[in-house]
Amino acid sequence: MNDRIIYINTNEYEKEVLKGQSVVLDFYSTECPPCEALADKFESLSEIFGNDIKFVKILRQENRPLAESLGVKSSPTLIFFKNGEIVGERLTGDIRRDDIIKNFELLLTEDRYKELLKQVKPVQTSCDVLILGAGPAGLTSAIYAAQAKMDTIVVDIARPGGQVTTTHLVSNYPGFNKPIEGYMLMHYMEEQAKGAGAKTRFSVDVTKVDLAAHKIEIDGFETISAKKIIIASGSSYKPLNVQGEKEYKGQGISYCATCDAKYYEGKDVTVIGGGNSAIEESMFISKFANSITIVHQFDHLQANKTAQEHAFANPKIRFMFEHEPRSFEKTAKGMLVTVEDLKTKEYKKLDTDGVFIFAGMRANLDLFTNSGLELDRWGYVEIDESMHTNIHGVFAVGDVASKQYRQITVAVSEGTIAAINAVKEIETID
Ligand SMILES: Cc1cc2nc3c(=O)[nH]c(=O)nc-3n(C[C@H](O)[C@H](O)[C@H](O)COP(=O)(O)OP(=O)(O)OC[C@H]3O[C@@H](n4cnc5c(N)ncnc54)[C@H](O)[C@@H]3O)c2cc1C
Repeated sequence: MNDRIIYINTNEYEKEVLKGQSVVLDFYSTECPPCEALADKFESLSEIFGNDIKFVKILRQENRPLAESLGVKSSPTLIFFKNGEIVGERLTGDIRRDDIIKNFELLLTEDRYKELLKQVKPVQTSCDVLILGAGPAGLTSAIYAAQAKMDTIVVDIARPGGQVTTTHLVSNYPGFNKPIEGYMLMHYMEEQAKGAGAKTRFSVDVTKVDLAAHKIEIDGFETISAKKIIIASGSSYKPLNVQGEKEYKGQGISYCATCDAKYYEGKDVTVIGGGNSAIEESMFISKFANSITIVHQFDHLQANKTAQEHAFANPKIRFMFEHEPRSFEKTAKGMLVTVEDLKTKEYKKLDTDGVFIFAGMRANLDLFTNSGLELDRWGYVEIDESMHTNIHGVFAVGDVASKQYRQITVAVSEGTIAAINAVKEIETID
């Protein structure tokens, strides 16, 4: 940590923050992955802006009344002060470097801001193995590559952990005889990768990708080149592309039961979908909600038999088979869902408190459009048994790659295979 960052407690707040001229204040917590992801950015920005802006950190757990008086409800939270007044946008969660820099504009004169921006010099980093994605597949590759003493960097556009961090309980990952919370399982994998020596760049923007040249650019200023690239960017929920879905995402429409089910205690919820995720997540939501209506386009569920049996036996769950959503509207109660009966073509209205959408998955490949990667007909990366893609020195593993089953165990096994092959090729061929 450099000496441009100061750590304070509540009794120094007035002197260091309110009486400072231009200040950025970071409310952080311990055991907080997004706080750790922010710490690197905070430090590197303090080296450029630290003569003009005071960089201050305060531990939220030990300074709760101050945090509450400032309305800080999550960690990390960045607040910007100019002459004792709060200015700009309060930033929280996965904080992007660019968003911090944008707020600095309000703390400095126009000329000084432009002058300092010029000092944001491009950085060139090279490594042996660059892993794009820190879910189970990417973190496993990182563990193997780093343990083989490869210079390894793992990049993620969000916090590490991937989809598993939004999974309430995982009961089928070997080694845990009781179900383990998804976030804990991923915390262990992350710690193991870091412990093995893997370097990380989390919550960053990947601003350029050149797979053929084995190079990416992050946050618009750091170019990382590697001998081998392992793509482990996973998959995410497909939107339905139904009217109102985009507008009300996060305001009544959710894609994550672990994150949001707790807000529906005693409420009526509509779930769209009928596959494993829809059914398993509905079971979880039923711990909180009063009733769940599952709207599914087919006349039967696609989920596995055990999940189906549990759902059919759950008195809180009812089914609308052969129905599809047509629009979502916001109401005083929550959401109004218009569904079409696919047999009669009749439109029906469902008055509900909230909607969860689980309508299948898509590969996270937006950043690799036009990169020359060969995809299967469903849009997943084609790989051979060594996890090679069609691009020399580029591997793909886990959910992003073409396969029959997408599970944590499959992701970790592919992460293993790719890393071992990458290491062998670096040691023998390159
Ligand atoms: C609700 C739910 C419940 C599930 N339950 C289970 C279960 O009980 N058991 C089981 O085995 N499996 C379960 N799964 C499936 C399992 O989560 C996935 O198979 C597994 O997470 C795939 O791992 P991955 O590393 O390939 O991808 P992900 O877990 O999707 O991780 C990919 C990572 O890449 C990052 N990323 C995306 N794009 C980029 C980019 N361009 N550059 C850098 N990083 C990027 C993402 O932010 C993410 O962190 C469940 C999935 C869901 C959605």
